[in-house]
Amino acid sequence: MSRDPKAPPSAGKMLHLRGDRLSPGEPISPPLVQASMFHLPGDPEGLAGYGRVDNTTWETVEHMLAHLEDAPCVLFPSGMAAISAALFALLKTGDRVLMPSDGYYATRALSETFLAGLGVEIDMRTTTKFSEGGFEEYQVVFVETPSNPGLDVIDIGKVSAAVRAAGGTTIVDNTTMTPFGQRPLLLGADVVVASDTKAPGGHSDMLMGHVACHDDAFVARVKDWRKLAGAIPGPVEAWLLHRGLETLEVRFDRMCRSAEVIATRLAEHPKVREVRYPGLPNDPAFALAQAQMIRPGFLCQVTLSSAEAADNLIERCTLIQPATSFGGVHTSAERRVRWGDAVDPASIRLSVGCEPAEELWTALSDALETL
Ligand code: PLP
Repeated sequence: MSRDPKAPPSAGKMLHLRGDRLSPGEPISPPLVQASMFHLPGDPEGLAGYGRVDNTTWETVEHMLAHLEDAPCVLFPSGMAAISAALFALLKTGDRVLMPSDGYYATRALSETFLAGLGVEIDMRTTTKFSEGGFEEYQVVFVETPSNPGLDVIDIGKVSAAVRAAGGTTIVDNTTMTPFGQRPLLLGADVVVASDTKAPGGHSDMLMGHVACHDDAFVARVKDWRKLAGAIPGPVEAWLLHRGLETLEVRFDRMCRSAEVIATRLAEHPKVREVRYPGLPNDPAFALAQAQMIRPGFLCQVTLSSAEAADNLIERCTLIQPATSFGGVHTSAERRVRWGDAVDPASIRLSVGCEPAEELWTALSDALETL
């Protein structure tokens, strides 16, 4: 039975996943298991054996993520650890991988710094021209949509079908969206990777990531990578992610609603040169975003008259944290050009948080008036 990729996962079921399996007297909130050793006399078969391999706190989080992704999930200590696991589990010497030239820079840096040295050929295309040239040559095609920070959109269904027809595997980085905003596996992708450091954690106090896939053999290989490379989640961070996931749907809903209001008003403001937001009807990505995304997300790209004006807005707005990363409860912003992204120096990536929209707008419009 094929599921509707525009239907969000059930947040109600997610909240009761653990409760439905509890025995009388067990805690409702999952125990935080801090253990490297387990009591293991005799035959160890089927028992938790060692903390690099087994941890029931991870398993509780993976169960929740599997519900959200509608597929088995493997937890990692960061988004980059998840991306590394997926790429290293799939690629070998002589393979070719295609990735966006304008997506998150660390994915490109990982590939160029480590995969290229192992004899993997790496090609890049801009997000808006990603399908031009086809996918025949590639064992792996890595998609990030909407792209960070440009917020251009790739057609996941179309690309995944073409890649599959050519015998390749499509990985989608769903970090900017979360499963409540976009469901890449239901759209046809083979593998999802995501940074749960962002909205899923949501409180800017931990890093985490995951890989999701329906192919049991691939999931086992990714677990082997985690076990053998030793890139394992800390139990405390896993526990914090569990807590974050419990309120993700509420926070994501507030953040998307506020972002729609803020992006619309910023786009009409005389001090703002351009706003990119997939939910604005005149945005170049709007039609595709409507077709494949459940919500337009909480990230906007706002371009002012100059880099100085952009810095001043970030500094003077009382409800903006000047910070890199995104998806937290606090609205945050930065000029991505400071990390070398190919964006206008006057552009700000604005991550709309959980402040009430009208309070946030008042703080933003007050700061804009001072420019
Ligand atoms: N993917 C995207 C799109 C990101 O924006 C980030 C981080 O900003 C990552 C992956 C990496 O996540 P982490 O910092 O959790 O390793």
